[in-house]
Amino acid sequence: MGPNGIKHLYTAEQIQTRIRELAREIERDFQGSDLVVVGVLKGAFVFMADLVRALNIPTRCDFLRVQSYDRDRSTGVVRMEFDLTQPITDTDVLLVEDIVDSGRTLRYLLKHLQSKRPRRVRVASLLYKELNPELRPLIDYLGFTVPNVYVIGYGLDSQGRHRGLPFIGYPKS
Ligand code: 5GP
Repeated sequence: MGPNGIKHLYTAEQIQTRIRELAREIERDFQGSDLVVVGVLKGAFVFMADLVRALNIPTRCDFLRVQSYDRDRSTGVVRMEFDLTQPITDTDVLLVEDIVDSGRTLRYLLKHLQSKRPRRVRVASLLYKELNPELRPLIDYLGFTVPNVYVIGYGLDSQGRHRGLPFIGYPKS
């Protein structure tokens, strides 16, 4: 148990170790490629910052933002708030997500990116909720599996707070 009644799931050290492992896999798969790394704001910004710095291959970074959660509850509707700033036609794309929960956001984004005719799209997600095993094959590079709780920290928020926590955890109720 950490400060402020937050139960720790993964420490800062465990996260960095896992990111280095993922980076080695990604480097191997994208050797010689002109890779565009696409972060999904806001939640993925911390993971993406550490991931691109761990990668020993050239990358270009871009971001998009979608909204589907309102006060920690899924609204069920995914809305694009802003899109990429560069074309990705015939380009390799690595989509970087914070967490795949219902998979609605990921499915929406994959469809959206595919419509831009990239060369290939792969998905890196820091977390995935084990409640939805059918979604696991959609994730090419997975950080950790988490139980079905609302997790916070390392980019993930609760009503806008806690994104700066260096670890991943959940509020103890
Ligand atoms: P999905 O569309 O897969 O249900 O949800 C994806 C988005 O919802 C994530 O990118 C994240 O922003 C938010 N989300 C889903 N589950 C959690 C959670 O446990 N904690 C936090 N902080 N955000 C979550």
